[in-house]
Amino acid sequence: MNLAQTKALLSRFNIQPTRSLGQNFLVDERVVSRISDLAELTPEDLVIEIGPGLGHLTVELAPKAGRVIAIEIDRHVLPALDHNLASFDTVLLIHGDALNQDLKQVCQGWSGPVKVVANLPYYVTTDLMLKIMTELPFCQSLTLMMQKEAAERIMAPIGSKGYSPVGIIAASIGTLHRVLSVGRGSYFPQPHVDSVVLQLKPHPTPLVAAQDLAKFGKFLHVCFHQRRKTLYNNLAGFTLAGSGKITPELWTNLIETLPADRNVRAESLTPTQFAKLYYSIIEISKPV
Ligand code: SAM
Repeated sequence: MNLAQTKALLSRFNIQPTRSLGQNFLVDERVVSRISDLAELTPEDLVIEIGPGLGHLTVELAPKAGRVIAIEIDRHVLPALDHNLASFDTVLLIHGDALNQDLKQVCQGWSGPVKVVANLPYYVTTDLMLKIMTELPFCQSLTLMMQKEAAERIMAPIGSKGYSPVGIIAASIGTLHRVLSVGRGSYFPQPHVDSVVLQLKPHPTPLVAAQDLAKFGKFLHVCFHQRRKTLYNNLAGFTLAGSGKITPELWTNLIETLPADRNVRAESLTPTQFAKLYYSIIEISKPV
């Protein structure tokens, strides 16, 4: 759907794009087709799409995938979306907030590969990416379009201001690549910033096992709770099931094995060190 077709559809269904929901529709057909190519879909794939909007991306994904499950929060766009998807019986539409869906449950019953493709709403980019990574670690790829600034935070290098749990979880699962840059002119309404597409492909041997990712994510949040504090001070109140708090002696032991400085801040640890620290704490917490 190009710009003229999008405007006609909006007018026909009397839709005003809602800024607070991040409704910037992708009207550059070459970009839509490039994203769908990057996802390398096959008829065996189940695609989870977050925020289909008017269906710009969905209509491109549907003929290539075995099934598309699209989750859209805004009821106002549903009639236009239904209209655009009428000829695709492989698309299932879920009306709701993707943040409240059990994504694992959504995929249940599908025996083939699962891939996530989305042009993410900017106001929940990080939360959605964290949710997707922790609930769908078995996913074959994530191909996610987002604002350039959000992507830069997610890919922020160790030691930088932006380095944060979302990037560490991504690095713990697989390899994250910036695969496409998209100018703001490719959207209607036009946003104030440019976008990029990031693609995450999980490793066969991740740093953190799939079943541990949700807890690892919570652990990272404690580590980064107050960025200016040392890691030890952030973790001081962290209670270990079965063995109490992290004492200075225990901390010295833990930090020596990483190895790291006793006064290290969270932003200086590598994903590998975080994974090692997490599993050491789990090991210590095990009842004897
Ligand atoms: N996929 C369409 C495209 O590429 O043109 C629309 C992308 S637009 C950037 C983001 C879409 O996500 C909007 O349709 C918006 O209503 C929807 N959305 C926003 N928040 C959401 C949420 N929490 N759960 C599901 N959909 C959401």
